[in-house]
Amino acid sequence: MTSEVGRSFDRQWAELAEIGRHAQTGGYRRYALTREDHDLREWFAGQATDRGLDLTLDRMGNQWAWWGDPDTIPGLVTGSHLDSVPDGGAYDGPLGVVSAFAALDRLRDSGVDPQRPLGIVNFADEEGARFGIACAGSRVITGALAPERALGLTDGDGLSMAEALRAAGRDPELIGPDPETLRRVGAFVELHVEQGRGLIDLDHPVALGTDIWPHGRWRLDFPGEANHAGTTRWADRQDAMIGLASTILAARAAATTHGCVATIGKTLITPGGVNAIPSAATGWLDTRGADEGAVRRTVAEVTAAAGDWGATVTEESWTATTRFDLDLLTRLRRALPAAPLLGTGAGHDAGILATAGIPTGMIFVRNPTGISHSPAEHAERDDCLAGVEALTAVLTELVGTGLAGAGP
Ligand SMILES: [Zn+2]
Repeated sequence: MTSEVGRSFDRQWAELAEIGRHAQTGGYRRYALTREDHDLREWFAGQATDRGLDLTLDRMGNQWAWWGDPDTIPGLVTGSHLDSVPDGGAYDGPLGVVSAFAALDRLRDSGVDPQRPLGIVNFADEEGARFGIACAGSRVITGALAPERALGLTDGDGLSMAEALRAAGRDPELIGPDPETLRRVGAFVELHVEQGRGLIDLDHPVALGTDIWPHGRWRLDFPGEANHAGTTRWADRQDAMIGLASTILAARAAATTHGCVATIGKTLITPGGVNAIPSAATGWLDTRGADEGAVRRTVAEVTAAAGDWGATVTEESWTATTRFDLDLLTRLRRALPAAPLLGTGAGHDAGILATAGIPTGMIFVRNPTGISHSPAEHAERDDCLAGVEALTAVLTELVGTGLAGAGP
């Protein structure tokens, strides 16, 4: 590891540190199509310009910075996302983007002459924190999310994605599948902070990803009737909150039975007054597990439990088990023979691209507490630099050696 690369990493990290950081919580609030998002995208564009890379936008506004011309031969792409969950950590997403630029710098410093184009991507709206669907950027360009559905999604203030795009100076009409952009991607390798404790036990700073668990999001809408909290008799109450509360416990029980995890981490209670009986309660269920059938059985039980309270259940997204490309994994293992293999319960743009048929792999960087989607999310600097080193080795293997191709 040269100190040059440490400097490249530190400089980028410092530039990003204050963007979207909440003064009280210390967490990041970097949501799609906001001022913070704009600043992050400007930063990405600046990094591309500084390095003489060609910056392109696709039909969903994902940013691609290319070294070499991917229209002559498909390239290898690395990178991740810059948006965050509410009060998210600094590493989820940005670590992959910063490491990509640092690895490119390292590649250039070592005089590697790429035999195929190298791209760095910043996927838009990966967390789905504002409009509710994760990986919207990659889902739209691969056709996994229809543009009319994406544009109709609304944020907490009732603003649609179409309106938010217009407010950001973008044209909603342009949103849609983008096979031309995807044709340029011969393979995709995403570096990401680990969102669990797998690497702690394995005593290694980086791992290679094997698969992503099946996972999905469901919206549960419970009906009720607003009334006075003091004067309405028990018998006359239709309290939407009771159904939601009962279903949250049912979700925990069902997930435990089937060896999955289930979380209801977001609710919307109407009218939301302390002294008013809730007239409507909405909860969003996130369910994941190693086995697809077990996840489906969990959701079926939650749906039945919600149905007992007259709720409607709507599937907002579903992603089946994603297995990363075996030929690419073989090449990644050649570059990183000591790296252990890990599956993950977290969704990523890499999973969406893999499902769309693009050879895809992932590199995970050790997280000393396993905590993620929290201001406490962390990775040691030495491990981050080990991640850059690992990514550099992978890029060298895939674009720098003159081997026939990045993919199968
Ligand atoms: Zn992420």
